[in-house]
Amino acid sequence: MSVPLPRRRLLGAAAATAAAAALTTATPAAAATRSADVIIVGGGLAGLTAARAVVAAGRSALVLEARDRVGGRVLNLPLPDGGWTEGGGEFIGPTQDRIRALAAELGVATFPTYNAGKNLLYKDGKRTPYATDGLLGAVPPVDLAGLANAATVQATLDNLAKQVPVNAPWTAAKAQEWDRTTFDSWLCLNAPVPSARFLFDVATTSIFSAEPRELSLLYVLFYIASAGNESTPGTFERLTDTGSGAQATRFTGGSGLIPQRLAAALGERVVLNAPVDRISYGGGTATVTAAGLTATGRRVIVALPPALAARVDYDPLLPAARDQLTQRMPMGAVAKAIAVYPTPFWRSSGLNGQVVSDTGAVRSTFDNSPPDGSCGALMGFLEADEVRRLDGAAESEVRAAVLADYVRYFGAQAAQPTAFLLQRWDNERFSRGGPVGYAPPGVLTQYGPALRTPVGPLHWAGTETSDYWNGYMDGAVRSGERAAREVLAAL
Ligand SMILES: Cc1cc2nc3c(=O)[nH]c(=O)nc-3n(C[C@H](O)[C@H](O)[C@H](O)COP(=O)(O)OP(=O)(O)OC[C@H]3O[C@@H](n4cnc5c(N)ncnc54)[C@H](O)[C@@H]3O)c2cc1C
Repeated sequence: MSVPLPRRRLLGAAAATAAAAALTTATPAAAATRSADVIIVGGGLAGLTAARAVVAAGRSALVLEARDRVGGRVLNLPLPDGGWTEGGGEFIGPTQDRIRALAAELGVATFPTYNAGKNLLYKDGKRTPYATDGLLGAVPPVDLAGLANAATVQATLDNLAKQVPVNAPWTAAKAQEWDRTTFDSWLCLNAPVPSARFLFDVATTSIFSAEPRELSLLYVLFYIASAGNESTPGTFERLTDTGSGAQATRFTGGSGLIPQRLAAALGERVVLNAPVDRISYGGGTATVTAAGLTATGRRVIVALPPALAARVDYDPLLPAARDQLTQRMPMGAVAKAIAVYPTPFWRSSGLNGQVVSDTGAVRSTFDNSPPDGSCGALMGFLEADEVRRLDGAAESEVRAAVLADYVRYFGAQAAQPTAFLLQRWDNERFSRGGPVGYAPPGVLTQYGPALRTPVGPLHWAGTETSDYWNGYMDGAVRSGERAAREVLAAL
């Protein structure tokens, strides 16, 4: 589709293009052999951060990345005019200190997510714009009984989360009780008012891209505790909020610039098109094979989500606890749909582009326009049961469903975008879903310690192994830094 958008459109295309051009990563030659102190499996934020830290400490590192690009769940998507938008991880917020610091070191600037004007609640067929600067903040104005119930539930979740140590949630005093409970059954007891239940259902799918019935209560409490840093306890609101929460800020040029710049600095230490299929280890070394490349190292950092780490063949077999952990942490089901328009037309109706809805393929949206508003971009999430319902649907069907939702929310103008981008993470061979590999009941208490415990020379990174901001870009960076500290201490 051709789109008459001016240059300088979404998110500083020029900067993004320059960084991509600087990427001098290698592709494995047939039957090639490489060696390094540390072999890193996976060139997402976790793996690249780990490599950067290893190299900074004067050790050699080699990153093997399966795709023909770095970044994993972080991905800049090109627009027809040469601009960019983001198909994966995008927002950052307060207490996400490590991704913020990394971006600053790499010269990637930030700007506030568009948040001026009213949010939109779409419920029971009714469309209600609402201001977010009142007493309720961004909480959608459901009935009073629902609001009262929701306030109690939120306070209770925050209090229970304070009892969960982020580095070992399985040691919480009530870990067993909470880990045999789904979040759904807990909500059935604690959020009996239907409108309150609606608020937590929509928040849950927005945060995890999974339904409450799929999640362990212990895992949800851990995730809330994890939404903070060493000096600021996590809260439920910080997970859901835009203005002062995890969706507050975006990156100029797109989040994809961060992995691109990390890889550019690592140069030939990053090998693309290298899907690792086997890791053999023992006797103080490890051998990693990928598409005809054999890499040997003294340490290996596997920087993959558990579900992907499970697809690698380990020789000798990993301890059962680690192997079975990776059989039990599925990825959420998520897609992002971005519709581009000549202008952010909803702004002139006093709307900020953010929707909370009880109906449709897309039930939460954001204004993803570039910082100068030179065109309009509406980004919607398709999550959990809603995206599963569209499994196997043609892109044209998904597009029709998404645009029907956008028309219900923002009016007839939304029907005719100049570009439409769909990024389905459940169809990606090297992601299999997103945003995070989550823990169903019984996993953290039985297998949690295997998340990070090294096995011989093998160390584990990836956002799923992080204490703070688990599931987020910040958690990925933290995990890479932690794994690098581990291997450097061991070398
Ligand atoms: C739709 C969506 C929206 C999101 N929104 C946000 C957000 O707004 N803010 C936020 O902070 N986070 C967000 N996230 C989450 C964030 O993107 C992730 O937490 C983060 O990018 C994970 O990084 P990682 O390095 O741990 O894993 P990954 O990015 O998954 O990296 C793993 C890498 O390993 C590669 N790989 C896989 N298998 C192999 C193999 N066998 N051999 C070699 N390489 C392999 C993959 O290709 C990938 O590059 C979102 C994610 C998604 C999908």
